[in-house]
Amino acid sequence: MVLKTLVFMPKQKTILVTGGAGFIGSHLCKKLLELGNKVICIDNFFTGSRENIKDFLKNPNFSLIEHDVTEPIFVASLDQIYHLACPASPVHYQLNPIETVRTNVIGTANMLDLAKRAGARILQASTSEVYGNPLEHPQNESYWGNVNPIGIRSCYDEGKRVAETLFLDYHRKGGVDIRVVRIFNTYGPNMHKNDGRVVSNFIVQALKGEPLTIYGSGIHSRSFQYVDDLIEGMVKMMGNENGFIGPVNLGNPGEFTIRELAETVIRLIPESKSKITYRKLPDDDPERRRPDISLAKTKLGWEPKVPLDEGLKKTIEYFRRIV
Ligand code: NAD
Ligand code: UDP
Repeated sequence: MVLKTLVFMPKQKTILVTGGAGFIGSHLCKKLLELGNKVICIDNFFTGSRENIKDFLKNPNFSLIEHDVTEPIFVASLDQIYHLACPASPVHYQLNPIETVRTNVIGTANMLDLAKRAGARILQASTSEVYGNPLEHPQNESYWGNVNPIGIRSCYDEGKRVAETLFLDYHRKGGVDIRVVRIFNTYGPNMHKNDGRVVSNFIVQALKGEPLTIYGSGIHSRSFQYVDDLIEGMVKMMGNENGFIGPVNLGNPGEFTIRELAETVIRLIPESKSKITYRKLPDDDPERRRPDISLAKTKLGWEPKVPLDEGLKKTIEYFRRIV
């Protein structure tokens, strides 16, 4: 007798990724394609690059729409939207702060309108910046934050807070199927070499033999998450069918001072002759940041797996190829 094995393939989904040519977006597009989905990337290439998505352009399941999310758009037959479009590095979101607010507010409302019309589930890439300069440590999702509404980071922090408000209101009043993740500092390949955030700055500086620029005294802390861990958490959150909409923290609880990060990068690039130099601390720079990830563990069965050294080694290999 021949035993027949029935293999149940999940239905192919059509998934829109805004900001898909950026650092995180490009990893997400790759993962969603590997899972067998059709992926549509929307990007205006403000901080994203064609290089990040060039491998997908020949894939028949991938398509690109060059578009600014602050303009309305309709895409038919969508199952899911991951909404990532927004510059994430302080250097870039502060270049044109009014545009950053417009992207976070008008762009997010446009994507929620699209989700409503298309009947698609939509996930917001929110941020640990909603906690501002936190008075509670570590930060869990019930903490409302300590944010300056009129500072140089407000275009991003307050923009992202309003975006969360819009998500919850479209859910409560409009019945939109939402998910909200709060992402903590994430790093990895595909970061732009001039991105301006600390991990890419330090690696590029160390590879070029230039001094590593610590802003302030180096005692400020961050918790650094490798991008593969984040992508796994985002896909789990989008796919969960247990009614959990978030917000949920996605981050690595391993907390390091910026000085420790600089020393680690120098140690992992043994040929580097770089020293450390100190620069003025930018206004409103949060002093410390560490996620409480109990909720993600309980609701999603998720926790990060990649330790800092291992993630940095992979990121250094990437920058060796492009610097
Ligand atoms: P990134 O700057 O590399 O990517 C952002 C992408 O959005 C780019 O491709 C950019 O061109 C695109 N974009 C910006 N404004 C747009 C607009 N108006 N219309 C269309 N496209 C636009 O940044 P990233 O690190 O990949 O971050 C992606 C998302 O994740 C952002 O929403 C960011 O706020 C969020 N996030 C990232 C981190 C992190 O540590 N990387 C932490 C918290 C939250
Ligand atoms: N930082 C630094 N040197 C740099 C870039 C950043 O010391 O070249 C510091 C920055 O002041 C902050 C931390 O590193 O305290 C993280 O900065 P990043 O821009 O990566 O992320 P965010 O401040 O948005 O968490």
